[in-house]
Amino acid sequence: MANSRLFIRQYKLSLTVIAINLGCIAGLSLSVEHSINSKIPLPINEEKYQQNQPQNIPKFKVEIPQQQQKANQKLVGKLVQEEAKSLNFSVPLQFQGKTIREVKIKSEQKVIALTFDDGPWQNTTVQVLDILKQETIKATFFVVGKSIKNHPHIIKQVVADGHAIGNHTWSHQYHQYSSAHAAREFNQTADLIYKLTGVKTSLFRPPAGILNNGLVSYAHQQKYAVIMWSVDSKDWRSRHITVQGLIDSTLKAAQPGGIVLMHDGGGDRSKTVEALPKLIAELKKQGYQFVTVPELLEMEANENKRLHVTP
Ligand SMILES: [Zn+2]
Repeated sequence: MANSRLFIRQYKLSLTVIAINLGCIAGLSLSVEHSINSKIPLPINEEKYQQNQPQNIPKFKVEIPQQQQKANQKLVGKLVQEEAKSLNFSVPLQFQGKTIREVKIKSEQKVIALTFDDGPWQNTTVQVLDILKQETIKATFFVVGKSIKNHPHIIKQVVADGHAIGNHTWSHQYHQYSSAHAAREFNQTADLIYKLTGVKTSLFRPPAGILNNGLVSYAHQQKYAVIMWSVDSKDWRSRHITVQGLIDSTLKAAQPGGIVLMHDGGGDRSKTVEALPKLIAELKKQGYQFVTVPELLEMEANENKRLHVTP
């Protein structure tokens, strides 16, 4: 019995090594609550979204340099330690099937969560990842299924870098959804995320923050945590906002426990990329620490637990 368990464990580990060598690394998955009374933001121009989808995406080739293989082997040890924590993370009950736009941190911790929507996107997602790595910051990416299909190597990188992933539908449309159509949008995306990264996410963000077109009600039924935002960088305004304007909008609304809306895909995000290092520097100056949405939720859940413990 013990031998067969050991065999299964070694077999699983071998699969993990293979998965990593293919660039698949497990990351965080998660969820959430709260009430919402946010204004629905102007949607990103859908036509523009479609037009901006890069064409003729080169096929991803699996070529692993020796140096990279060594780095991957190191990562295996780390991954095994974190395996239970990341893959088996379960969403705290109070957040399942709820909508949240910020969390209430009662302690003095000044934390904030950066979120990036509409990727993976050629160039800009990688640029955002480079900046986050340089700043040693983890963020949360709400990804679009058909973009993942076009950029499988980028989503693998997002997870390998330790960022959290959320579902942002397959096709990023704004119309009314039947339950069956909503199910397809969720499941196709969730299946591809899982296939490429091993992550099962239970975070969802509705395209353009639309709450009443059938997607959010489906998400609630399926116990997804619907993650909105409390800080709008307004980078979706694209040509109608300056880099400084984007930074100012974010800093003006930033508060501890806040969730910041930004975009790494869906159009020209060069302003987001340009603003990001300056924004991070300013928030750091103000004493903020950066966490993922799952970490933010966990913080609130733990605080609630502590508050309910009777002496
Ligand atoms: Zn979006």
